[in-house]
Amino acid sequence: MIGVQGRRNHTRIFPDLKPGLHVSSDSLTSIEIAVPLPVRQTYSYLPADGAIPLPGMRVRVPVGSREVTGWVVPPTNGPLPDPARLRPICRVLDDAPVLDASLMNLARWAWRYYHHPPGEVLAAMLPAALKSDQPLAELEARYGDTLCTWQTEAEAGVRLSAARQALRQLLMHAGRAVRREDIEAQGISPAVLRGAIQAGVVSVTQSSPWSVPHDALAPFPHSLTPAQARIAESILAAPDSAHLLEGVTGSGKTEIYLWLAHQAVSRGTQALILVPEIGLTPQFAARFEAVFGKRVALYHSGMTDRGRLLTWLRARYGHADVLIGTRSALFLPMPRPGLIVIDEEHDTSFKQQEGFRYHARDLAVVRAHQLKIPVVLGSATPSLESLMNAERGRYIHHRLTERAQTTPMPGVRVLDVRTRPLQAGLSQPLIQTLQQTLDQGQQALVFINRRGYAPVLSCDNCQWIAECRHCDVRLTLHRQPRQLACHHCDQRYSVPETCPACGQATLAPIGSGTERTEDVLESLFPDFPVVRIDRDSARQGRDLPRLLKRVHAGEPCLLVGTQMVAKGHDFPNLALVAILNADGGLFSADFRGTEWMAQQLIQVAGRAGRRASQGQVILQTRFPEHPVIQALARHDYASIAREELERRHLHRLPPYVQLVALWGEGRTQAETEAGMMTLRQTLAQLGATHNGPLLTGPFPAVIARKRQRYRAVLWIQDDNRARLRHFLAHWLDAHPRGAPKLPPTFQWRLDVDALETL
Ligand code: ADP
Ligand code: ZN
Ligand code: ZN
Repeated sequence: MIGVQGRRNHTRIFPDLKPGLHVSSDSLTSIEIAVPLPVRQTYSYLPADGAIPLPGMRVRVPVGSREVTGWVVPPTNGPLPDPARLRPICRVLDDAPVLDASLMNLARWAWRYYHHPPGEVLAAMLPAALKSDQPLAELEARYGDTLCTWQTEAEAGVRLSAARQALRQLLMHAGRAVRREDIEAQGISPAVLRGAIQAGVVSVTQSSPWSVPHDALAPFPHSLTPAQARIAESILAAPDSAHLLEGVTGSGKTEIYLWLAHQAVSRGTQALILVPEIGLTPQFAARFEAVFGKRVALYHSGMTDRGRLLTWLRARYGHADVLIGTRSALFLPMPRPGLIVIDEEHDTSFKQQEGFRYHARDLAVVRAHQLKIPVVLGSATPSLESLMNAERGRYIHHRLTERAQTTPMPGVRVLDVRTRPLQAGLSQPLIQTLQQTLDQGQQALVFINRRGYAPVLSCDNCQWIAECRHCDVRLTLHRQPRQLACHHCDQRYSVPETCPACGQATLAPIGSGTERTEDVLESLFPDFPVVRIDRDSARQGRDLPRLLKRVHAGEPCLLVGTQMVAKGHDFPNLALVAILNADGGLFSADFRGTEWMAQQLIQVAGRAGRRASQGQVILQTRFPEHPVIQALARHDYASIAREELERRHLHRLPPYVQLVALWGEGRTQAETEAGMMTLRQTLAQLGATHNGPLLTGPFPAVIARKRQRYRAVLWIQDDNRARLRHFLAHWLDAHPRGAPKLPPTFQWRLDVDALETL
């Protein structure tokens, strides 16, 4: 829910809008529409020319003096508005619902649960290409393929230039119709193709590329281990349940997904598989493609709008049986739903962090429940939320404790670095082990969760520190290209030669990021390639897939990377994983710090020794006796999770209570404070009579100023989710009228089940 100043006045600005949902008893006299405005309610309109559009169709409706594209939503019982005061719909855009009944159900659940404007929820569920107001039929025509065939019988009397000869050869050689894009990709110009079409030697037909014909599904090509088979069968035996699949890295969770998907497809249903970051793990999709061929369709942000629309259409018309994608793929249509899988369910990228702040894992569980199909949440390091749900019997808990192939889990060596001199973060024993690994023809990964060259640029003479002008944060020094960057607002600055405060040439970088570690490793091991993998190397077009290919090829090399390398990669020749600083999350202010640190380090460690030989993990720490470090050394996520759950229970924190974060930001600190106090008061007032939630704060955010805005947060907590949801709905309904004045420059929003809480 976005609390902009304008909301309070929307009835004045749009006097014709009448909130409320209703159906009349005898005939439907009005249609409920969700409009693309930051408002919580839907609005009633009269049908155009008596035509009743169905829920899930898009319509053009008047709003004040404007016309907007809105959504027809299902009617519910409510007070009947006076038809005389309603305006008619201008135009119905679609002749069939764009969102089917099951997605509309999910949407309604979501906008109520997240207190988010219905129009924005519905828009977020569609690929960008469908957010225009073009009718679906027109879009389908536009995005269809033009298929070209060479007509030998029309050649007589037509001049065949060299370019046309090339085109002829390409088309004849293909032996079938070829897409126009594929012809142009071969270097044949659109003009040549046009000319050939005009001359009659090339004929064209239009096709729907989303209707791909399939061969019969081959039998499942692998055999599961007894442990995998037992779990797979028991998931199959409880098809309307949610399943938590906890399996150590390399235990064959993906094999189980493949098998379950194969079962689903052979029954004639579709499987939807969500992963954190597909662009980085092409292997994952490749394993599905090896089993399902062209039945697989991908959906992620690295694709073009057209590509995503095609996947959406293939899903909608049932031509894709296995849908693999990131967060927003959750909303792909499935006319024949059979299975939902969330891989790495603990991953925070499943939570949308702006706009409609949904959690794809949680909505997946809801969607599967509504569809009565199984949902599998897989992870080596399940979130505490999921562990608690398993504990309470809401999820069936399955465990895979051993790797599928004979390799045992890597041995972990805890290296106390309190007494050891460090060379740019590397201790001597670590350097020696890296050397041995390379000498044995193997690969090593150096993990450091900080990109850039150095996290601080400071003056040795006067202690000046480079900070962002717009945020309360230190700037990170980058080498490629050389600049200071704010990792919070993305502002870039040139690097000063002399100290801006004292004028001396005494500026020095402090600490290390991936770039500096890369430099150090290059100078320590000049005979071996160093491959850096982080958001910058991926962004600078330093061709990540090509780099990864090299690593996969297995030549001895060093990898330097952030958590980006921790996700789902399977590097066969990676023998050693070195964690430069394991202590980051131990004393984090964030109550989820320990959980996230443990998940991350176990994932990274799990990259070691996945094939052939046993791997090794080196953990550099200043707290070797810390119980969390000790547990990590035993690969004992379960004990860390148990301790954490107890602590959360004791301190009444998520997952045992629901936490809704109310974020506010203003132009000045005083404005933010005043705004937040006002909101707190209205919450407390309502809470006094309505069994209100626990309120904590407001307190300034850890980054108290970001992009020139002063930020604060208030925690709203209750151990009863339904009660909290009703309370907040009540408060939001009352708020536009009930709240005292808030300055127009102060903005606020709710984040339900927030992951960012400080
Ligand atoms: P996870 O998803 O739990 O990390 P994977 O499914 O990726 O585990 O399995 C790890 C490795 O073991 C992969 O190389 C995979 O091909 C192999 N593997 C897993 N299960 C089997 C099996 N039943 N038979 C043969 N190889 C398997
Ligand atoms: Zn200085
Ligand atoms: Zn900044």
